[in-house]
Amino acid sequence: MTKNETAYLLLEKDIQESFAARKRLFIGLLGGTSFLLIIFCVLFWYIPYMGLQGLPQIFSWILGGIVLICIALVTWSSLALLLNILLKKPIFFSRNLRGIAVKLFLPLMIIVGRLVGISKEKVRASFIQVNNEMVSAQGDTYKANELLLLMPHCLQNSLCRHRLTYNINNCKRCGECNIAGLLDISEEKGIPLAIATGGTIARRIVVKNKPKLIIAVACERDLASGIQDTYPLPVYGILNQRPHGPCLDTWVALEKVRETIERFSQ
Ligand code: SF4
Repeated sequence: MTKNETAYLLLEKDIQESFAARKRLFIGLLGGTSFLLIIFCVLFWYIPYMGLQGLPQIFSWILGGIVLICIALVTWSSLALLLNILLKKPIFFSRNLRGIAVKLFLPLMIIVGRLVGISKEKVRASFIQVNNEMVSAQGDTYKANELLLLMPHCLQNSLCRHRLTYNINNCKRCGECNIAGLLDISEEKGIPLAIATGGTIARRIVVKNKPKLIIAVACERDLASGIQDTYPLPVYGILNQRPHGPCLDTWVALEKVRETIERFSQ
């Protein structure tokens, strides 16, 4: 077994253990966020209700009806999300549920996480994990040219002089970083590969390639914001490894990238 394969197996074990922890964290934050939303709805009804005492009864009925609908929506979406996560299959319009998780719950969970002392990074990692499971649960497969491999520029060796942002084929494949291996995978599978130095370039790459699924490698922050920016386009996120700290000489397990491609290929 090569050094790289051993490192991958150890990493995979670590990943599997942290997957379960991330899922538990997401479920806990989902429960906490839904509870606070319901409290907020009740307050939204109760405070104006006291001020409506002198007005016709119909106003308080209307306000009460709106609040009940909001509570029902919050309860339904959080329960459906929970079932989707636990059963790992689409429940009640799961494509829309991913939208609710992306647009509504993630920003609120970051706030709730901060209130209870959980770092943004952990909340985002739990969200990425659940997002990946929801994207996988849809069960869609794609042709090679409908996929896009989107990589962060920090995967490139920091001492490399070749400029890859506009043309990744400038890489000389010396093997000093993951780019050489990713180019091999891209050529072998016929899947477009691109490097983004930031959100604007990433958006431009997506518009140019028009993929139906993005397999993206990045840190928690960039993956979570990328998933939000590109919604409803599905993004499967793979966290990069940062042995030298953020944004410097990061790497990704190529076996994990291959495995993800296999999962979504026709
Ligand atoms: S593999 Fe490519 S990108 Fe990485 S250091 Fe070598 S030439 Fe540069």
